[in-house]
Amino acid sequence: MSAVYLDNNASTRVDPAVMDAMLPWFTGNWGNASSKHGFGMDAAGAIQKARRQVKKLVGAEMDAEILFTSGGTESDNMAILSALDNRPDRDEVVTTEVEHPAVLAMLDHLARTRGLVVKRVGVDAQGRIDLRAYRNALGPKTALACAMWANNETGNVYPVRVLAEMAHAEGALFFTDAVQASGRIDLDVASCGVDFLSISSHKFHGPKGAGALYVKQGLRTHPCLYGGRQERGRRAGTENVPAIVGMGKAAELAASRTYQDGQILTAMRQRLSDGLRIAIKDCQELGDPDNRLPNTLCMGFDEIEGDDLVTMLGREGVHVSSGSACSSGSVEPSHVLRAMKVPFGLIRGAMRFSLSRESTNSDIDTALEIVPKVVAKLRSSRSHLHVA
Ligand code: PLP
Repeated sequence: MSAVYLDNNASTRVDPAVMDAMLPWFTGNWGNASSKHGFGMDAAGAIQKARRQVKKLVGAEMDAEILFTSGGTESDNMAILSALDNRPDRDEVVTTEVEHPAVLAMLDHLARTRGLVVKRVGVDAQGRIDLRAYRNALGPKTALACAMWANNETGNVYPVRVLAEMAHAEGALFFTDAVQASGRIDLDVASCGVDFLSISSHKFHGPKGAGALYVKQGLRTHPCLYGGRQERGRRAGTENVPAIVGMGKAAELAASRTYQDGQILTAMRQRLSDGLRIAIKDCQELGDPDNRLPNTLCMGFDEIEGDDLVTMLGREGVHVSSGSACSSGSVEPSHVLRAMKVPFGLIRGAMRFSLSRESTNSDIDTALEIVPKVVAKLRSSRSHLHVA
């Protein structure tokens, strides 16, 4: 049975070209990028090349604005701490209800330990940020405003340029978590007025354990790790050269094909959505139909336990995520769908189908064949239980 993998917002397969780029840095050159001999200098050069590749993907102006980290979580944490360091006389942060836990948990921690005032702005039934409430939440005490570029569960894309302008009008900095957006839609930090931006390599066919933080030139960074002077003293610890090289290659590939992939993915996603809605009664597409990542489809199925559906689909070779597990393997009902006030029955039965450039029309055909059958089976076993 060949696997149909439709869980690319959780992680993507490493592209073979990325793997090829990484391999020599394990056994051919294992040097430490801080060493002053040839091995070290070559490794340092490879990191610089990766920095330029990532810079291009996010639309930064200078190499030095890109800082390598261990992934999206570290970049998110560091962005928040750094922004607060740059506005030491302010103690408020404006964010949204639908951010990833890597942002929300860090803000909660700072609220508990430092007395930071965190204002979480709500969303409407389609998961769109209430822009008026966002603007009203900003004020002279706001150090940082943040909003993700795209949501991991619904795929909703947020108006980063507008939000950054609102933040700057109050003298606050603006940070966006672009972990799901990178490689899927164009990012242009410079023209959007973003001050900090986080990305993670494993979401765009690079290796896990590599991420980057964009820090606009002139802004201070707050180190999360203390030790050596790597990354210009901004992140201590020996660089993971193979992973950074892989991230660079993955960024280069993604930057060269974002538009073309987006067109194909939008068509495949639409076919999947249409087919499911025709074949299954009482199901609903969740999220903003007009501003969404091309690869993401979030569907709520009534009278279904999402985790059961995931397990049964997995047995049939179709791999997806349930609404409760879209963020960090949590068993709690999705905080994103709750913020959208999706009825509880649909939240419980919410599924996320996330495609990648490796998804095929045959994957969609298989999903359209299997998902309705499994949903029907689960619903009928449920109604038997009720009868009993
Ligand atoms: N931010 C968003 C929006 C994500 O979807 C994820 C991971 O799913 C993260 C941050 C965390 O990234 P990482 O897995 O690289 O730590």
